[in-house]
Amino acid sequence: MEERKMPDTTVAFIGLGTMGRPMAERLLAAGHRLTVHDRLTGATAALAAAGAATAPSAREAASGAAVVITMLPNGPHVREALTGPDGALAAMRPGAVLVDMSTIDPSTSKEMAALAERHGVRMLDAPVSGSSAGAVEGTLTVMVGGDPGTLDELRPLLGELGRTVVHCGPNGAGVSVKLANQIIAGASMAAVAESYALAQRLGVDPRLLFDVVSASSGDCWALRTRPPVPGVLPTSPADDGFRPGFKGALMCKDLDLALATAADWSVDLPVTMHARDLYARMSEEGLGERDFSAVFALLSKQG
Ligand code: NAD
Repeated sequence: MEERKMPDTTVAFIGLGTMGRPMAERLLAAGHRLTVHDRLTGATAALAAAGAATAPSAREAASGAAVVITMLPNGPHVREALTGPDGALAAMRPGAVLVDMSTIDPSTSKEMAALAERHGVRMLDAPVSGSSAGAVEGTLTVMVGGDPGTLDELRPLLGELGRTVVHCGPNGAGVSVKLANQIIAGASMAAVAESYALAQRLGVDPRLLFDVVSASSGDCWALRTRPPVPGVLPTSPADDGFRPGFKGALMCKDLDLALATAADWSVDLPVTMHARDLYARMSEEGLGERDFSAVFALLSKQG
């Protein structure tokens, strides 16, 4: 299919952390006029040096922008950035589009979409999978909830950030799919770590385990990208002191969101509950800022 370029657009980007900064850098490099804001003033320096305008508040960043993108840790941060005293929504012009790319709970996301509509603003929830390397390379998977026509308008812009941009359904559907993905990613990483902990105790060679399991029914993304002991796969976080990657604390946050959402709908998620407790223990033991594959450290030191 022929690749469409979006005419240069005025974009406000709010939240310049691990993910937001490289994503904003890609939009700037693609020629969009960019205004950035982060509540940590130091976070905007690299973007400013590359030619982005900076704004002291979400409200000022959003004023006049055709598209406002938020990439924030969790629902309360998104609520504050959009509806707080210096929030973006009140400053957005009617017809503008708000794209929340944070991983938050579906109910907050739907509530923000309804509020946006009252301001004449169209909202898409568009969380991503693919970690910081995918943000740098523009190879993220973007899961979109909201009006399909609005997504079509924004496809070229989102295509600068992700290789796979999928319409998942109405507002809230993008974050619902993202939480479903995190259940699998979180539980399978915990299972890979358990498997390595037992195999280590039994004296199994970790590289042999990788080779055999990746060609067997235990094969999965967690194993293929994150064997949790060094010397098995050079690109694994285990070979880089468990530098993230994707932090254990963020996986805990995502599984908390999945569990709270499941409770609202009376759905029991027993495996997710156990996995969540393991990632919570990572933070308690000072490992929350390490890649989530460092959950292996908790399991390998038993007995
Ligand atoms: P991060 O903590 O590195 O960055 C978040 C940024 O938001 C920080 O710079 C913080 O100062 C800023 N911020 C917080 N509240 C703000 C506010 N009210 N106004 C302005 N700025 C504010 O987080 P991240 O790793 O970039 O993740 C962002 C989102 O993407 C999260 O929801 C996360 O779950 C999701 N995600 C992360 C990854 C990953 O690999 N890191 C991968 C996929 C999805």
